[in-house]
Amino acid sequence: MKIEKVCVYLASSNKSRPEYIEAARQLGTILAKNKIDIVYGGSSIGCMRHLADAALENGGRVIGVMPQFLCDLELDHQGLSEMIIVDDMHERKKKMVENVDAVISLPGGTGTLEELLEAITWKRLGILIQPIILINTNKFFNPLLLLFEQMIENNFLDPRHRSMWTVVESPDNVIGAIESAPVWSPRAKSFAAIR
Ligand code: AMP
Repeated sequence: MKIEKVCVYLASSNKSRPEYIEAARQLGTILAKNKIDIVYGGSSIGCMRHLADAALENGGRVIGVMPQFLCDLELDHQGLSEMIIVDDMHERKKKMVENVDAVISLPGGTGTLEELLEAITWKRLGILIQPIILINTNKFFNPLLLLFEQMIENNFLDPRHRSMWTVVESPDNVIGAIESAPVWSPRAKSFAAIR
C-alpha cells in the first residue's frame, strides 16, 4: 500500500517541552521526505506549527483544516500548501480524516486527546478503518494505555480492540507501523461479538 496522506493530531501549546517540539519536527521531516501529505489542524502555534514548518522546509505538502473562528483569532498558519476553512470543530474533525491512509497522534492536551479518542471510537464502529499510530514520546501515553487496559479488564473493551491502535516510541517508526498495522474490519461477522 502506498501511503499518500495522513492526519496528525498534536499540541497547540506554545510551552511544549523541547522533546515534544523535536518529535513534531522529526515527524514533519520524515513525512515530507517520504512524499506523504499531512493534514492537521492548521494552527500557527505550538507543536502544530513545528510539524507544519518542518514538513514545508523539506518540500512536503501540508493541508490545514480550521474553523473560521480560529482564523478570526489569527491562529491560522499563513504558509500552508492548502487551508480548508470549515464552520465548526465537528466539521473540522470529520474533514481531517477524510481520505487519509492513517491517523497519527503525538502527545498533546485535551484537544489532541479528544481527536484521538474520537478516531478510536469511530474505528471501533467501523466509520474509520485506517491505522491509528500513537507516538509515545517520553512515555506520555502510558497512563492512557493503562486506562485502555482497565477498560479491557472491565469488559468495556474487548481484547481484540487492542489492535485498533499501534504504539511507537519515535517518529522514525511511524511509516513501518502504518505498513504493518493489522487490517480492521469491524463490520465483518467475526467482529459482531466485539461490543
Ligand atoms: P491541544 O492538544 O489541547 O493543544 O489541542 C490541539 C488539537 O486541538 C489540535 O489537533 C487542533 O486540531 C485543536 N486545537 C486546539 N487548540 C487549537 C488552536 N489554538 N489552534 C488550532 N487548533 C487547535
